Amino acid sequence: MEARLAKLGIHSTRDLCEHYPMRYEDRSKVYSAGAVPFDTPVSVRGTLISVSQKQTRRRNITLITAGVTDGLDTLSLVWFNHGNYLLARLRKLEDRNVTVYGSVTMDRAGYPVMIGAEILEDPDTDEVIVPVYNLTDGIGQNQMRSFVRKALEYEREFYHETLPLSVREEYGLEGLWEAVRGMHYPDSPEGFLRARDRLAFEELFVLQLALVQRKQRQKLPGRGISFRVPDDFFTEFRSLFPFPLTEGQKRSVMEIVADMRKPDCMNRLLQGDVGSGKTLTALAGMLLCCKNGMQAAIMAPTEILAEQHYLSFRSMLGDKADVFRPALLTGSLKASERKKTLEDVESGAVQLVIGTHALIADKVRFHRLGLVVVDEQHRFGVRQRTALYDKARDASPLGPRPDLLLMTATPIPRTLTNAVYGDLDISVIDTMPPGRQPVRTHWKKPEERPRVYRALKSLIAQGQQAYVVCPLIEESEAITSRAATELCEELKRDFFPEYPIALLHGQQSADEKERIMTSFRKGDVKILVSTSVIEVGVDVANATCMIIESADRFGLSQLHQLRGRVGRGSQQSYCILISEGVTEDSRKRLEIMTRTNNGFEISEEDLRLRGPGELSGVRQSGLSDFKAADIFRDGALLQKAKELARSIIEADPGLDSPDWQQIKRFVAAKSAEIEATTN
Ligand code: ADP
Ligand code: MG
Repeated sequence: MEARLAKLGIHSTRDLCEHYPMRYEDRSKVYSAGAVPFDTPVSVRGTLISVSQKQTRRRNITLITAGVTDGLDTLSLVWFNHGNYLLARLRKLEDRNVTVYGSVTMDRAGYPVMIGAEILEDPDTDEVIVPVYNLTDGIGQNQMRSFVRKALEYEREFYHETLPLSVREEYGLEGLWEAVRGMHYPDSPEGFLRARDRLAFEELFVLQLALVQRKQRQKLPGRGISFRVPDDFFTEFRSLFPFPLTEGQKRSVMEIVADMRKPDCMNRLLQGDVGSGKTLTALAGMLLCCKNGMQAAIMAPTEILAEQHYLSFRSMLGDKADVFRPALLTGSLKASERKKTLEDVESGAVQLVIGTHALIADKVRFHRLGLVVVDEQHRFGVRQRTALYDKARDASPLGPRPDLLLMTATPIPRTLTNAVYGDLDISVIDTMPPGRQPVRTHWKKPEERPRVYRALKSLIAQGQQAYVVCPLIEESEAITSRAATELCEELKRDFFPEYPIALLHGQQSADEKERIMTSFRKGDVKILVSTSVIEVGVDVANATCMIIESADRFGLSQLHQLRGRVGRGSQQSYCILISEGVTEDSRKRLEIMTRTNNGFEISEEDLRLRGPGELSGVRQSGLSDFKAADIFRDGALLQKAKELARSIIEADPGLDSPDWQQIKRFVAAKSAEIEATTN
């Protein structure tokens, strides 16, 4: 039994107490056998009759059947593969009054049947609101209820209040024990909410205390590098581009530079919608680092993107590329090139190191790494994100630590940013480069394809380029790639025989992908048919149209990222979503896409449709691991917890006051957990 409980993460009686119900059954509504609604859990009261057991001839399934009757109508009950225990229990109850609980469906002959019903022997004394727990094989609902009940009795005297009365009063929170009990046996819906709020606050508060403490520890003065900023640095930096920086870029550059000057380590997240110009902002920090005689590295999630950064750095740097030498390091370099690059990185002959995960490999030795930039950080695992930083630290344990800049285009609702990235400082680029016109997005039905293609033809005739994105097919990259190949052939043969079309998918070699991207960038290829491999960061300003096939298969954030590939130049761009839009949910998503281009708005809608935990970036942050809290619903609570945590740690960094003696060990455990996932 212990092993079974362990599968649910339950290792102690305390864990049982904190195995909160996933939902509750309201048994106050009781039906009689003749008038039971379908497909919703209901209680049905009546006399239990006709208990019998059968063995199906095929496949050896044991079937127990019975009925519950009100004298006029009878509802059939069926259980599959239950042991003798259930049969014996039913036999004992035969001809007695019972209440059964479950969902009623229609059987093949059109009669209502309740499958796998729960039997309540003595409904009059049972609670009205009954907890329903998450279970695992070999543990029944009633068994779990009785485990939890016993655990609560046993643990009661060991539950020590964690929040001082003053805090509880200020935030209107009930006592810890009351809340734990209230989660399992709420006396009313309001009682449940009170209990949940108290426990949610506690979880968020413990997390925030751990994060704020951690942030303080990392700010140990003198562990980082104080970069010197030459007088002409900004003038020189601005002279690299033909355009002025946007307000958001200026502010972010200033924040980054200010961090880098300080002797503390920078730990900053740069957030900006797709196309807002994060790359160039990061380049400011990288150049400052090089100016100080140190190396800077940027890690991107895909080879295509790393290559693109390399090319754009070279073109931005112009003749300065001889002074700040950039090098590209990916897994697909030829052995000889790779050897040379590794040597140059180690000797310090190159200053800007651009690459993929390949940068983390043991063989790579940096020469005084001063700044680590991680692009599209949500694409990396938690460990990978800081791996480069850790590498530099481990290479010289006593030396100064590099600064860390994470970048992301995955917008998180503004109210949550601070809380989700609790231990990071945040810069936001909230302004788009000027001259950009919002992408016009249309939703078209599959039968409208010929018209869409005709319109595309006229765009191409004007010298523009387009992406056609193929649907995501379940989990298999191979099948998705095959579908892309077929679509590409069809477009060549039936619609665009006169134009060069190329295909890009995950099954191609890195060399091949690179070749294709180069010819698309140069404008030789007019239409790029691809799987969602182009989702991240690809930047071709002349591509003004994107057609997304079976758009309903993509999530909102993904559609937004994909669409970010167009609308990068000054010309009007279009995004065509092709879909039947069969489900309610997919229709909503498509409508949102046609309505707005704003990443923050889209992420908020996404949240509403999909719920917490699904939003990328959040799951990895360890924030969705709560038992009672839910950061999306609890935004306000989170903010309070964060403010309180800040003021407490400021006054009492070690949580030494007697007020915090109980909560202290939970904070320590949380810290250990955070360390384990981030190191
Ligand atoms: P993202 O934030 O999505 O990574 P990029 O850094 O790829 O965006 O920038 C998108 C495009 O915008 C690039 O072609 C870049 O040269 C251009 N760009 C960046 N900043 C500006 C600016 N201030 N004015 C005009 N164009 C800019
Ligand atoms: Mg980018």
